[in-house]
Amino acid sequence: MELHQLTIHELQKLIRSGKVNSSDIVKSVFKRIDAVEGSVHAYISFMKEYAFEEAAKADRSIREGNIQALTGIPIALKDIVCTKGFLTTCGSRILYNYIPPYDATVVEKLKEAGAVFTGKTNMDEFAMGSSTETSHFGITKNPWALDRIPGGSSGGSAASVAADECIASIGSDTGGSIRQPAALCGVVGMKPTYGRVSRYGLIAFASSLDQIGPFTKDVEDCAIMMNVIAGYDPRESTSVPLDVPDYTAFLSRGIDGCKVGIPKEYFIEGIDPEVTEAISRAMKAIEGLGASCVEISLPHTEYCLAVYYIIAPAEASSNLARYDGVKYGFRAEDCRDLMDMYKKTRSAGFGAEVKRRIMIGTYALSSGYYDAYYKKASQVRALIKRDFEEAFKDCDVILTPTSPTPAFKIGEKMDDPLQMYLSDIFTISTNLAGIPGISVPCGFTRQGLPIGAQFLAGHFEEGKLIQIASAFEKHANLKQRRPDL
Ligand code: GLN
Repeated sequence: MELHQLTIHELQKLIRSGKVNSSDIVKSVFKRIDAVEGSVHAYISFMKEYAFEEAAKADRSIREGNIQALTGIPIALKDIVCTKGFLTTCGSRILYNYIPPYDATVVEKLKEAGAVFTGKTNMDEFAMGSSTETSHFGITKNPWALDRIPGGSSGGSAASVAADECIASIGSDTGGSIRQPAALCGVVGMKPTYGRVSRYGLIAFASSLDQIGPFTKDVEDCAIMMNVIAGYDPRESTSVPLDVPDYTAFLSRGIDGCKVGIPKEYFIEGIDPEVTEAISRAMKAIEGLGASCVEISLPHTEYCLAVYYIIAPAEASSNLARYDGVKYGFRAEDCRDLMDMYKKTRSAGFGAEVKRRIMIGTYALSSGYYDAYYKKASQVRALIKRDFEEAFKDCDVILTPTSPTPAFKIGEKMDDPLQMYLSDIFTISTNLAGIPGISVPCGFTRQGLPIGAQFLAGHFEEGKLIQIASAFEKHANLKQRRPDL
């Protein structure tokens, strides 16, 4: 095995035993990037020079015996988190030249833990999408099948981990954007509880739904990353002042006696039969490990997509009002006056999907419509949240497919926004309820495409997710299989 193929915990062991240093690892990762990035296109920009400087610093710390959780480990960041002094585009032309004057809290925390950043990963424009095809900077390919999408919106972060172009990465999840691409690329992805990880410095899409989380090669690495990024941040008003447990303590607890809820509303028409088969096998596997599966009901499931596609665009239309050609990034030229400049800047700066969301959101929030749309959607959202509270009275965690289908072909759903929106059918309710979710690889289709299983738990119960996902992962034993790049 080469260094770029290893996990955080495997590399940590090598570092601690003095067998390798950070410069070796960073060199290996950039060699891999040189070899495969031309076909995968996981990144928008690189931080290569900085990475080697930081690796040299990490090597000094290692020699001094000062080794933190991520000392010397190459990590990629979705291009939606602000990095002081480094390009942060959010996948949009409107921010094509934006260099933030500050770091997001997660970036600060990763730096404090010793991480070395490799670059900023590709994403759907403003995180709106499920395929990473709406980026202004080109399409990311699925490392398992280069004619297919990696999922989205954090497709670059998922693909970079799957293709070994970094050791782990950061993504954001508003309706599934960590879990869905994790499933489609065969890696582990977690969306923490709303309020668990600070959103300070995360470019806002839909503020009441957005959460930052990790992509990793296994569940142990997920626990390590969560230990670093979770926690209260006084700069972020929805950050929750709760203690963060040591997530690695949940890794080997086993799941004997655990009750796993299977929501009957999630096994719907349109779900790929190979996905259903893989989830049935996962159910048997966890029963074999001592857990029991019980049928549960989430009766308002059918409204999730409709509620999300009012709330998310409404909040987005308000958040995106700030891009006017004055404060950030792109500005159109040859404008008659201020209004003309706004219009031309926003017309040329945003892509079609972002404009569609701004129009839906502006309509839903306009005078006279607020009660009928945003307010009504918020009321139904409360019912969706209550569904989960009721369900968790009868089970410890919930198991569902992460995505109804494996990775689809590039271009397949671009002309049909509704079909595209359906790829988040199993992930969106989690964000509406604010609860945590994890996607863990659970099998492959006969064509060799990865399939993901999603586990959900109550608020701030990420530990339980790590516990069950870790037990399942050990049993499934899929880690040896790698994309043939
Ligand atoms: N695909 C969903 C959307 O387009 C979710 C995106 C996300 O989680 N950022 O809004």
